[in-house]
Amino acid sequence: MRKVSGRAKVVILLALLVLWCLTAFFVQYLLRAGVCVTFPGSPHVYTGNNLTTGVVRDRNGTLLLENQEQGRVYSSDETIRKATLHLLGDRYGYIPAPMLSAYADQMAGFDPVRGIYGSEGGEMTLSLSALANTTAYEALDGRHGSVAVYNYKSGEVLCLLSSPSYDPDHMPDVENDTTGQYDGVYINRPLAASYSPGSIFKLVTMVAAIETMPDWQTKTYTCNGVTTIDGREVHCLNVHGTIDLATALAKSCNVAFGQLAVELGAETLTQTAQRLGITSSLSFDGLRTAAGSFDLTGADNWDLAWAGIGQHTDLINPVQFLTFVGAIANGGQAAQPYLVASVDQSYQAKTTLLPRIMEEDTAQTLAALMVNNVETVYGSRNFPAQIVGAKSGTAEQEGALPHATFAGFVQDESYPLAFVVVVENAGAGSETCIPIVSAVLTAIMQELEGQ
Ligand SMILES: [Zn+2]
Repeated sequence: MRKVSGRAKVVILLALLVLWCLTAFFVQYLLRAGVCVTFPGSPHVYTGNNLTTGVVRDRNGTLLLENQEQGRVYSSDETIRKATLHLLGDRYGYIPAPMLSAYADQMAGFDPVRGIYGSEGGEMTLSLSALANTTAYEALDGRHGSVAVYNYKSGEVLCLLSSPSYDPDHMPDVENDTTGQYDGVYINRPLAASYSPGSIFKLVTMVAAIETMPDWQTKTYTCNGVTTIDGREVHCLNVHGTIDLATALAKSCNVAFGQLAVELGAETLTQTAQRLGITSSLSFDGLRTAAGSFDLTGADNWDLAWAGIGQHTDLINPVQFLTFVGAIANGGQAAQPYLVASVDQSYQAKTTLLPRIMEEDTAQTLAALMVNNVETVYGSRNFPAQIVGAKSGTAEQEGALPHATFAGFVQDESYPLAFVVVVENAGAGSETCIPIVSAVLTAIMQELEGQ
């Protein structure tokens, strides 16, 4: 009997082992099968770097990309092809398409029960407006840079343009180009670039002042065009006389903001930049932004002054900065951006709020100051919306023309849009960027009106 009982135990143990293995297998299968079948390079759904199934459309149903067995079919419109290349990727993997990889399951029509069930593949609809991107591409007119616009309440990215670009149907000889027109052409700039911000960074310094200086509204500074800090000069583009901080922000006075940065101190400015997310990166839809930088290691007060003005070693990423200006417009908390609105019935984007980065009072105060910038300096008539808040920047570059930068928002329930534009080596911020912002906002507002 003892022998039989011993055998029974062994059988039960073996049965349990088999059951455990099977359970582990099915759990792994359910969790991992989609990844295995649709991993980049999988022969089931890829030819080389390219998915062989699924289509991508913009928010209006305009066809951007059709993945076929024979290869990729892009839009029939050349400007759309150029203006959306950095999101869709090219045929050879020089420009990747992490967004397509992130939703490869759905694009391939895969689920763990049925395997690859759809012969035609999934249909991805982006929140992007092809019209907004082509308008931005044409407005940049060959200049290099980034244009990003998103809805700070819903998170929909409506415009995300990287320039330079090229026509994927007529690939240029990038490697042997000596004109510079294709410099960094494989980089998706609004997501992957970190730029010297120039004076749009004064918004960060202004948040620190509003939050930590109870008397900021009554403080005044005297600008004679230059001030000396730690024995070195900080220059202003103009002589502004005696001004308060609201006027200093509107006129972008370096003397006032240089002195303000020193008063605030390295620790307060560094903590503020970090809390506002300037030094962090964002992830969504398989995409990841570069992080900016605010580093005062070894800095003296002269460096600190320039850091508060948006020079020194400051860096910002356009899409991350977009969520910062979105938060200013939206009471201190903006929506997380997204580009993929849906893939068939299997995926539907949801609005998610990013963590609050400033108090509601601070956001409202700064938003009002930015609206004042437009009304008193940039000119409301230059924008298609009634209430626009903005800040311009002209980021000095060693041995080259400055980067023109411009960031802001539309304050309108129907068009809650934040925007960031960077035009590289282009000159003054507002003159360069306002026509681009205006053209893109006009295109987006016309489209939204029709929807
Ligand atoms: Zn000044």
